[in-house]
Amino acid sequence: MAGDFSARLISWQRVHGRHDLPWQVRDAYRVWLSEIMLQQTQVITVIPYYQRFLAAFPNIAALAAATEEQVLAHWSGLGYYARGRNLHKAAQIVVTQHHGEFPHSFDTIIELPGIGRSTAAAICALAFHERRAILDGNVKRVLARYCGIEGWTGAKNVEVQLWQQAEALLPASDVATYTQALMDLGATICTRGKPKCCECPLHADCVALHTDRVAELPTPRPQKAVPERHATFLLLMHGSEVWLEKRPSSGIWGGLWCPPQIDDGQGIVQDYLHRNGITVSERVDMPEFSHTFTHFKLHITPVLLRVAHKPSRVQQAGSLWIEVNEALSAAIPTLVRSLLSKL
Ligand code: SF4
Repeated sequence: MAGDFSARLISWQRVHGRHDLPWQVRDAYRVWLSEIMLQQTQVITVIPYYQRFLAAFPNIAALAAATEEQVLAHWSGLGYYARGRNLHKAAQIVVTQHHGEFPHSFDTIIELPGIGRSTAAAICALAFHERRAILDGNVKRVLARYCGIEGWTGAKNVEVQLWQQAEALLPASDVATYTQALMDLGATICTRGKPKCCECPLHADCVALHTDRVAELPTPRPQKAVPERHATFLLLMHGSEVWLEKRPSSGIWGGLWCPPQIDDGQGIVQDYLHRNGITVSERVDMPEFSHTFTHFKLHITPVLLRVAHKPSRVQQAGSLWIEVNEALSAAIPTLVRSLLSKL
């Protein structure tokens, strides 16, 4: 069954798969970069970011030599910024511990920050043509359906079954084409909604199709109430400059520049202004909006505060007055960019 499964996928990929993605080269740096960008983001969104990132940091040495701020500025808009920070840290490790050459060994690759089992395997398979099984979100969906595996694919016991299948179905050769085939099938045929089963090379023996469970598999994640939090963003403006603070490197928007934020229960705007010796000449309360993170939903109320004089006390390290136009191309989260673009 394994040989037949992989043979069908490989033949299908050669004719119907994707062959013109910019990272389809035997270069570990490019494959690694694309795999990290694609972890939470779709191909169509990734391509322009990938191209700009590569133009700025054409190789591992250039990435390692950049500052975290330069890296995050090129990541800005892609979200899940820990990916960009880990990529940067890993590049520095490659330079200092591996003479600047991306390691070839799976066991060494998986030790690098931000690289899990499936990503390490994808790099080994695509860049080094090594026989390794991958199990990203798309592959989980394909295998859950094809093998008829029930249960949320993030649950440990389900994941174990999926890894067993992924290993068992691996072909003896042509692993790079096979890996690309699985990725292409998940992205273009066995999609989350409305899979094109009649065009699928696996339709003859797909368990989900033959037991009429395509719409049910993979089993959705059990619903949990998402905690809600509230915060106020202080948009302190002096002329055309805005005040931004650099976030600590851990936590949401780690290492990015944001307006001062007052979390629920941490006092009121007036207290903040008083503590920092800020005198406001105009205050505008802007409409609240929400942003959903992986583990909670944040309701943000932006308050525009115009100051006549720059307060001397708000001048600590890791914070600055910056022209709004300049801030738009700095390392800031997308929602801060969209707020600033309205000022
Ligand atoms: S037959 Fe349909 S459900 Fe089964 S693997 Fe192919 S596209 Fe997915």
